[in-house]
Amino acid sequence: MILELSSNIKPHELEDLIEQLGQMGYQTSIQKKEENLSLLLNQTPQNVSKDHKLKSLAHVKKINPLKEIAQLKAKGFDLAHNVHLGGQAIQLMAGPCSVESQSQIDEIAYLISKTPTKILRGGAFKPRSSPYSFQGLGEKGLKYLKDAAEKYQLLCVSEVMDSSDLDMMLEHVDILQVGSRNMQNYSLLKKLGQTQKPILLKRGMSATYKELLLSVEYILMGGNQRVILCERGIRTFETYTRNTLDLSAVPILKELSKLPVIVDPSHGVGIRKYVPQMALSALAAGADGLMLEVHTHPEKSYSDSDQTLSIQEFEKLVEQMSPLLEALKRA
Ligand code: PEP
Ligand code: MN
Repeated sequence: MILELSSNIKPHELEDLIEQLGQMGYQTSIQKKEENLSLLLNQTPQNVSKDHKLKSLAHVKKINPLKEIAQLKAKGFDLAHNVHLGGQAIQLMAGPCSVESQSQIDEIAYLISKTPTKILRGGAFKPRSSPYSFQGLGEKGLKYLKDAAEKYQLLCVSEVMDSSDLDMMLEHVDILQVGSRNMQNYSLLKKLGQTQKPILLKRGMSATYKELLLSVEYILMGGNQRVILCERGIRTFETYTRNTLDLSAVPILKELSKLPVIVDPSHGVGIRKYVPQMALSALAAGADGLMLEVHTHPEKSYSDSDQTLSIQEFEKLVEQMSPLLEALKRA
């Protein structure tokens, strides 16, 4: 937690405040950003019961709970094998909603590897609204995904739904995806913080930016700083589209967190023919990458067929990105 202090605090008042905090059981360190002074507090289970008193201390202007985020320095990071996210180059993550068979993911991986895409997506544990819908191939699906990715020199990303699957997931994937429905599964987030894998954290379908960033704190607290934020649309009163893709999230989350922000227009709009426009708009908004559902036979997809692009539509979109990226001075 960070206590932002009033600008007119005098040196002896600061000393008094630090002493008072010490008596309450907090270790403090002073932070100075331009003319603004703040105190970084080390919270422990012992002093947590005193947190409610912090607001009333003299010279405390504001309490910022995003302590770990405030201390992040890096703008981007390597995902694996020198694939960098958050720099000048944007990254594409493409593939089917679900891994359906070995030949399906192999063929899609092959076709995707012919484009500038470096990351293959594919769900093996699927969070379906209906328990009667296809639930994913589980471990077998993860193996197919990993084999296909390795064969065509791609990285792979897949969703971890349950922490009991974590060891298996760590073995097979390069990036662990946390789905919308699990953005506030705090025990899962804590466990992910203890790994060193990049975590792709999708925004909950009714989560505010602040709630998303508090979920990030859970991961960072454990020591894992490689977090990717993903805007994938939120629930609004509009029902024509599956979700409302909130592109304001891109510049705002980048500013508030310094973490790479990607956009998933497939789930964001939910209607195939609008996905390319929303993908291009996401790049214009400053996204560091895109996640797109792509299939050789979208209409036959086991899940999310309405929003899945064909390989040809995906290739066309990739072509359309070139002049835009050039104008944006990105690669
Ligand atoms: C997915 O990526 O297939 C998925 C289930 O996404 P979300 O969690 O955004 O619904
Ligand atoms: Mn999907």
